[in-house]
Amino acid sequence: MERNTRRNFIRKLGATVGAAGVVGGTSILSSCNSVETSSGDKIKLLTSSGELVEVDKSQLTPAEMPNLSENQTRGREGLPGRSWVMVIDLSKCRNARECMKACQNHHQLRPEQHHINVLQMQDAEHTAPYYMPKPCQHCDNPPCTKVCPVNATFKRNDGIVLIDNERCIGCRFCIAACPYSARVFNWFEPRDAEKYKGVTYNIEANVPQKKGTISKCLFSADRLRDGKLPSCVSACPNGVYWFGDRNEDAVTNGTTKETVSFSKLIKDNAAYTLMEELGTKPRVYYLPPKDRAFPFEGELIEHHS
Ligand code: SF4
Ligand code: SF4
Repeated sequence: MERNTRRNFIRKLGATVGAAGVVGGTSILSSCNSVETSSGDKIKLLTSSGELVEVDKSQLTPAEMPNLSENQTRGREGLPGRSWVMVIDLSKCRNARECMKACQNHHQLRPEQHHINVLQMQDAEHTAPYYMPKPCQHCDNPPCTKVCPVNATFKRNDGIVLIDNERCIGCRFCIAACPYSARVFNWFEPRDAEKYKGVTYNIEANVPQKKGTISKCLFSADRLRDGKLPSCVSACPNGVYWFGDRNEDAVTNGTTKETVSFSKLIKDNAAYTLMEELGTKPRVYYLPPKDRAFPFEGELIEHHS
């Protein structure tokens, strides 16, 4: 029996729409003279050929949705009562890249793939350069989840934005929508594909990775469930990362293990969020690179616009 996946649902819909289009020309509804009760309630749908069509709700028969596994259901809800936040202290990052390595190992990423990247930054011509780690910002108003046609990417109650690669059809709308370039596409077979063949998919770690789908930072949702800090936070040797729960107003430093008030930390240090003007409401806060703990090393790469 054919698996009733979301992908098949879209494919079947595409076939139906295509047939109607041949008969009726411009509009599907105008081609259907059997429409006796039009609800007037229109819905937009994406066909398998990437066409956006509008149909009356009365013309649709709800498809049977695949049952979500326990892991998928649990992963969609998140940890009750939690509201996760990250604070990144730019005065402490020295480009050690241990966060990147730990993340790549945790999420079985290929060497060229990053959920978190350490960027070289310089705000103006005569100001000092600094390093800026940049993961997914876990926006409270995420543009990425709104464009996904199959509800593969979503925001859960505890603030984490995840991806369900059992549902992702690889359309990459979410990549186009993310202003932080936080998402990566699995163009090739994932690292160690043979080794992880047959391993049950874990939605909170997004492993095993799957060719033709999306991956990105997940705040190590699986580790949080186990009471651990995210991989990048634990791996940093320089005290750059604070992570914790906004509801508890507490964040813990991954290196020193010190726990402090989140609101005080961001207020006392004039923290900011990236591209605030877009209204995406990121959950990643940056402490400005003042009183730097080290000299900037390496050569600043020049970018030309
Ligand atoms: S940073 Fe990009 S991928 Fe992450 S939640 Fe925001 S829009 Fe989505
Ligand atoms: S590529 Fe992005 S938008 Fe498209 S189905 Fe996958 S998660 Fe959704």
